[in-house]
Amino acid sequence: MEKGNLPSDRTKLCHAGRDFSAQHPYVNPPVVRASTVLFENVARMMECEENRNKGIKDRPTYGLWGTPTHEAFYEALKALEGPKAAGAWAFSSGLAACTMPLLALLQAGDHLLVTDSLYWPTRDFCEHVLARFGVEVEFYPPRIGQEIEKRFKPNTKLVVMETVGSHTFELQDVPAIARVCKQHGIYTAIDNTWATPLYFKPLDYGVDVVMHAATKYIGGSSDLLMGVVICNQETWPKVFQMIGDTGQATTADDVYLAYRGLHTMAARMKCAESSATQILQWLKKRPEVQSILWPADPDSPDYALWKRDYKGAAPLFGVLFKEAYAGKLTPMIDALQLFGRGYSWGGFESLLIPSYGKRTEGDRPFDRMIRISVGLEDPNDLIQDLCQAFGALSI
Ligand SMILES: *Cc1c(COP(=O)(O)O)cnc(C)c1O
Repeated sequence: MEKGNLPSDRTKLCHAGRDFSAQHPYVNPPVVRASTVLFENVARMMECEENRNKGIKDRPTYGLWGTPTHEAFYEALKALEGPKAAGAWAFSSGLAACTMPLLALLQAGDHLLVTDSLYWPTRDFCEHVLARFGVEVEFYPPRIGQEIEKRFKPNTKLVVMETVGSHTFELQDVPAIARVCKQHGIYTAIDNTWATPLYFKPLDYGVDVVMHAATKYIGGSSDLLMGVVICNQETWPKVFQMIGDTGQATTADDVYLAYRGLHTMAARMKCAESSATQILQWLKKRPEVQSILWPADPDSPDYALWKRDYKGAAPLFGVLFKEAYAGKLTPMIDALQLFGRGYSWGGFESLLIPSYGKRTEGDRPFDRMIRISVGLEDPNDLIQDLCQAFGALSI
């Protein structure tokens, strides 16, 4: 079977990046800890250096450029993102993966359009760092669709999107936005952490750069901080240049954990998604709850879009309580025994936290919203925990 042309994502998750050979006849890649790489002679050393600059695959010249462990992970990521994936890289955190491509693609005098729902710290990077270096930052409502064209200026260079809005869970019409951006020669980047490449492949729709917090579903075990970027042919040389210019490296140990996480990602997500559906049904019957924020919920305003573009829904959603509960959710959250109170998501354990965020286009009722990350526990136990905690709610 041709590598890179494997039959389905589930099979890719198990096989992509693995390189069986007589030198390494093991199921898993070696964890190669390295700063220094040795060469037979100077000529070979120079050849490897030249090949890296030309983008030709050869022995890395230094630990910064990765190891066979990194190579396995990058091959798997590219296979998952589809035929347009030209390059992949791992960063020390999801946030680093979300910010570095912006630094690579923008320069002073450029206009940047960012979804108003963007992960808060990435948004802060735009306002604090990019603005300081002369980039004009403008936020647009996430459900803008092709109307984004009206916001374009002669100096618009990049549009940043996100599936789904952080804490607010709006879905964006990525195909429409990517299409009008292409027409105007504007780059597009997307934080695709929620959907993962299993449920949505932005490069297939003409998006240039995909970012994921591998900390979430890829790692899947709450023991790893990592981000990944996958670029198309057009943007990869620029992003790769910035990687070298800023020295973005991750350890082989961490990359090994992320690569291992990929093998079980489909199974973990499917299992938790089925539990999430059960928990949502319970929540929707509760008199305290006003609505569920999850594009796969048939009552969601994004349901039609989700049906059209997505293969599944990640088990992370929001719950909006009725107005009477504004500012009164803390006793319920503190009463939880099984759900963890903690940041991040996508791990094997379920988490529940109060929602928060920052918006330009008007505040969201964060004081009566929570976010739930469903893990791999028995959903009946989770519902029982919610049931007893809801007993602590009073108005
Ligand atoms: C968590 C998260 C990140 C950042 O990942 P870290 O590894 O925690 O830095 C980026 N984007 C989204 C949507 C996230 O939820």
